[in-house]
Amino acid sequence: MNFHVDTVDELELIGPDLPPTDLLVRLFHEEQPRVFDTQPVRFGCTCSEERVRNSLSIYSARDIEKMTTDEGIVTADCQFCGAHYRLDPATVGFEARK
Ligand SMILES: [Zn+2]
Repeated sequence: MNFHVDTVDELELIGPDLPPTDLLVRLFHEEQPRVFDTQPVRFGCTCSEERVRNSLSIYSARDIEKMTTDEGIVTADCQFCGAHYRLDPATVGFEARK
């Protein structure tokens, strides 16, 4: 494999003159790159408090107690969208008071 990245001018990478696909082909023509049509990207995280509660439902009250913060809450952060959930420990886990 022989890359030609060194031959790429810095400005070429950010400039409007060369479409990214052309650059890709130029650099990796030996690999026969295949370029897919662009897909619209939509932000969508499917997390919800209900899902957090579901994932916590496998834990006992004792486990939940261990997860409880000094403030007396159970917190969960979505690693994907950064949503922050704060739950009453008494209402989560399979021994939760419904
Ligand atoms: Zn999320």
